[in-house]
Amino acid sequence: MSIQVLPEQVVAQIAAGEVVERPASVVKELIENALDAGATAVSVRTDAGGRKLIRVSDDGSGISSAEAELAFARHATSKLRSVHDLEVIQTLGFRGEALSSIASVSHVTFTTRHHDEAVGTYLRIEGGNLLETRPIGAPPGTTITVENLFFNTPARLKFLKKENTEKRYVASIVTRYAMAYPQVRFILEQDGREVFRSNGRGQLADAVLKALGLDNFKQMIEVDAEDPARDGRPAVRVYGYTSAPDLNRADRGQITLFVNGRWVQDSSLAYAVIQAYHTLLMNGRFPLAVLMIEIAPHEVDVNVHPTKAEVRFRDPHAVFSTVQRGVREAVIGSADAPQARLGRRGGEIHSPSYGRNAAWLSAPRDYRSDFEPTLPLEMDDPGQFPGQRQSQDRDSDDPNAIPYGPGAPDRPRTLPVLRVVGQVGAMYIVAEGPSGMYLVDQHAAHERILYEQFMDAFERQEKISQHVLMGHTIDLSPDEARLIEEKFDVLIAVGFTLEPFGPNTFMIRTVPAVLSDSDPAEAVAAILDDLMADNQPGQLSIEDKIIAQVCRRAAVKAGQILSIEQMQNLIRQLERARNPHTCPHGRPTLLHMSGEQLAREFGRA
Ligand code: ADP
Ligand code: MG
Repeated sequence: MSIQVLPEQVVAQIAAGEVVERPASVVKELIENALDAGATAVSVRTDAGGRKLIRVSDDGSGISSAEAELAFARHATSKLRSVHDLEVIQTLGFRGEALSSIASVSHVTFTTRHHDEAVGTYLRIEGGNLLETRPIGAPPGTTITVENLFFNTPARLKFLKKENTEKRYVASIVTRYAMAYPQVRFILEQDGREVFRSNGRGQLADAVLKALGLDNFKQMIEVDAEDPARDGRPAVRVYGYTSAPDLNRADRGQITLFVNGRWVQDSSLAYAVIQAYHTLLMNGRFPLAVLMIEIAPHEVDVNVHPTKAEVRFRDPHAVFSTVQRGVREAVIGSADAPQARLGRRGGEIHSPSYGRNAAWLSAPRDYRSDFEPTLPLEMDDPGQFPGQRQSQDRDSDDPNAIPYGPGAPDRPRTLPVLRVVGQVGAMYIVAEGPSGMYLVDQHAAHERILYEQFMDAFERQEKISQHVLMGHTIDLSPDEARLIEEKFDVLIAVGFTLEPFGPNTFMIRTVPAVLSDSDPAEAVAAILDDLMADNQPGQLSIEDKIIAQVCRRAAVKAGQILSIEQMQNLIRQLERARNPHTCPHGRPTLLHMSGEQLAREFGRA
């Protein structure tokens, strides 16, 4: 092929690929334009996750009739004149790429009226071609409608996710901006249904509450820290909310950071937040946070990437340390004052419990009072589904007489008969078998037992759910709510029935019977957490993953003191588990030391 300069249209489409990846990126750019135009109200509507239609209206400055057309030209911007302006840029946009990019890959209708002019302008553009322009009567401000996104770039279209997933991405963009701009009223309507509204009264707490849902918000701690300029370091302020350690997630996607009002995805800043929880969170668990970072504009380079989602700091360390210190102080400060924080999603009051798992190591006499042995296991039926109990032969010494589980036929043994000797550290069961000593992780073993029972019942299509007696509602963030809706079928299949009860609130009707002793809202929250984090396709089906999670919750915890009978029952059932050696998550359930090994260790052999 000969060398040729690409036609403008093709250049625009290629460039659009960088700015507009999916409906949510269109929404992001349009919201940023509305905010730059000084809007006090921004309303977003999408149909079919934004594939069919995205409409963003604002009451901002509007564009004069003389300039409306120009706004859609490539690299046309009112926000930047020279490269020096980049140093002090105060607006979210500056590249002049969004409108032209969006218009080159969709059908756009645009209505705008400058607040100083009496008439507005109407434009219609398809695939970058201006088809119509005329004056129109309109209120001051701008409304842009984007239809048939990616109609002329089928490759992009193919990469879009399921409609519900795109809806969720859009919801998370809108709620994020609502948090960063609490003085602006945001409304999000998806497929004709209002799913989010902030009040625009300027209170960050209001906006964060709306965006995260009440149940999460109750566990958020306020952050406000400032480092003055010194030793050549810039002044940095960080404020917002971060989660109490009890509220955490399996992925870091819930750490939202704004730098001077710009949403950024900066892994080192996110890491600063995570670092602040050092030793407070288990490995692989991450906090939720909404943090606003303020720094002089010339200290940050915003022109790193077309989506403007990355920034560079002149002094990254100053920012990093302020964020880390601010979050750490807030979290530690709240832990020092145990005057009743609201509990996770339950609404009950309890004092912080983190660090407790390690307490018995350092304070062996204290752990008894801390670990109230509230045992979900009843003496004669460890790990059975409550409500599906069977009469059991408790007198018999023959372990074969104890039924394995609900309705399950007796199974072949997979372990030898074990005699329970006792418990170590409220965590491990010591048992003796014909060939030596067994150390059993009580939590992992119980998880395994419950998992197999659950899977059996699930496969036999037995009723595995149980009605929740008192109405429990769970109030979620809009994106969490969309995820729940997306997975309704799977949830029902494993025993959770949820009913919509307001835009982002659900009434919990049933839970898996095995969880009937736990807080239904907490159980749903835990499942949701797993679903949110689940972006890597594993070998396990989503049902299996949820069931494994349910069993983890229902199993006895490390730290629970068990009676001899409870331990015996647990061991009896483990002896007949199909895979007694690992828990459903793949960790070992038991360690075996043979008689010979022991003899060797003691120098007897
Ligand atoms: P940028 O935001 O980087 O300047 P855009 O392509 O997003 O580039 O927008 C081009 C120009 O159109 C902006 O600089 C602004 O002057 C004008 N504009 C876009 N959207 C709006 C809006 N909602 N209200 C007022 N002016 C707007
Ligand atoms: Mg813009």
